[in-house]
Amino acid sequence: MRLGVLSPRGTGEKRVAATPDTIKAYRKAGHEVIIEAGAGQGIASSDADYEAAGATIGDPYQATVLLVVGPADVDSARLRAEHVVVGMLDPYESEGLDRLASSGCQAFALELIPRTTRAQSMDVLSSQANIAGYAAVLKAATLYPRFFPMMMTAAGTVKAARVVVLGAGVAGLQAIATARRLGAVVEASDVRPAAREQIESLGGKFIDVPYETDEEREAAQGVGGYARPMPASWLQRQAAVVAARCAQADVIITTALIPGRPAPRLIAEDVVQSMRAGSVIVDLAAARGGNCALTEADQIVEKHGVTLVGETNFPARVAADASALYARNIQQFLGLMLKDQSDELHIPADDDIVNASRVVQGGKRLFPQQGA
Ligand code: NAD
Repeated sequence: MRLGVLSPRGTGEKRVAATPDTIKAYRKAGHEVIIEAGAGQGIASSDADYEAAGATIGDPYQATVLLVVGPADVDSARLRAEHVVVGMLDPYESEGLDRLASSGCQAFALELIPRTTRAQSMDVLSSQANIAGYAAVLKAATLYPRFFPMMMTAAGTVKAARVVVLGAGVAGLQAIATARRLGAVVEASDVRPAAREQIESLGGKFIDVPYETDEEREAAQGVGGYARPMPASWLQRQAAVVAARCAQADVIITTALIPGRPAPRLIAEDVVQSMRAGSVIVDLAAARGGNCALTEADQIVEKHGVTLVGETNFPARVAADASALYARNIQQFLGLMLKDQSDELHIPADDDIVNASRVVQGGKRLFPQQGA
């Protein structure tokens, strides 16, 4: 099979969908890889590195399977019906999928892979969120004008920074772990009851907002491992508790998301106002409207003396490792449909991972499904 690797074209994007290591594996399995010149620039992998791994530098649209980072990489005018596009295709943006569909190609959005054990090695949301959580804390640490760890020096003692993490999914848990490694005191909140144990196992303190009704308890269980919107009664109590914790915080990392919806608003302007000057908020939900009312996407702004970071692509800041993990996620996913030494795609008809991630086929957008 011929695989094509497109250069990253999204704003600030540096990641690439194949590394020299995954190219070697594709070659070993008898596949041909055509990569666009300069595609690996952002991860310090030169064309020569890719050629040494067995790729050809050229026009990736000559291949059948096109590997991309995001939808911006694809020139839909060049797509043909036999193309199969694989990447993080931003499936909740219907217009982008409609553009792909108009070519008649087939496309798979890896964000929609189910959170099952079998799919773990292909889980791009996890591999990239993990990096975002890490990079967000490092960003906060460089913008915060004080230390993270407690320091006892001859010139006096410095207190540890107090970090609050809102949303303890993959990104939030990595943010907790990274802030703890830097010596901060960490508290975290999540709607899901399972989050308590995970937060505590990383040395964080769980910000408890007890459930008071069956409706609240049921909503908190979520669906498919994901959060569902919580009832207004719980959100009100959470807002009060979170506001009090945030007023004491030096750094806040917000990561709360509900798939396919705008980010829940967890920090109002008066909460920012209550924070100490010099505090930092990194809003990992900035691309989806932000968990903080004052976040500006892709900007670092100062409001009421607090620095607000609205960076929307932290994984691209750690592009080499983000690409290494992403490229392996893609390689594992392609393992479902490539056969060694075969020029044909063998897309299984009854595979839950394939079916959940297929967003475009036969000129039609398949996601979101009607009624979903
Ligand atoms: P996500 O990025 O969709 O959301 C981040 C976190 O925000 C979630 O933990 C969510 O519960 C939380 N959140 C939503 N609304 C909130 C609110 N109002 N206040 C506080 N927190 C709020 O989450 P994710 O990192 O993709 O993880 C989603 C789930 O999938 C988690 O349960 C995670 O453990 C699970 N998961 C499973 C696998 C697997 O089994 N293969 C892999 C990765 C993640």
